Amino acid sequence: MRTGTVKSSIGLGSLLWAGIGDTVRVSLSAEPEEEVRVGFEMLKALGLRHRGVNIISCPSCARQQYDVIRTVEALEKRVGHITTPMTVSVIGCVVNGPGEARETDIGFTGGGANNHQVYVAGVPHHRLKDGNVVDHLVALIEKKAAEIEAAKAADEQRHRTAAE
Ligand code: SF4
Repeated sequence: MRTGTVKSSIGLGSLLWAGIGDTVRVSLSAEPEEEVRVGFEMLKALGLRHRGVNIISCPSCARQQYDVIRTVEALEKRVGHITTPMTVSVIGCVVNGPGEARETDIGFTGGGANNHQVYVAGVPHHRLKDGNVVDHLVALIEKKAAEIEAAKAADEQRHRTAAE
């Protein structure tokens, strides 16, 4: 499936990047749901569609202050059902963490002695000391999704009332 995903991303991605095409169909030797997920990931990566949680993470290295790869892996599974568009940065240390967090709805930067920094809307919000990183991020993402949906519903209601 990895090979198919790479081939589809290069083939379809270059066309979409050039502004060609209105619909996308990814074919993989995998479950159909996986083809849809890959299609949406391509559109998200190109900035053409915003659906669900877009996780921006670092590749991780010896400086990471928690296991970035396992955290992102678990997080992607836990928030895969959320369709509300939002960006979340999951970064291993302060080298890139604060910078990425500035551009995302929720940011997480690994800190020394298991004392990590959480950002909301680009600014430092609170610290997570000795907590479960995945559980904490899932709770923050679900809360943010509920807030965005509530604001959207209130906005739609305002427009409906104004049109009456
Ligand atoms: S942000 Fe930190 S942990 Fe992540 S790759 Fe860069 S230096 Fe390594």
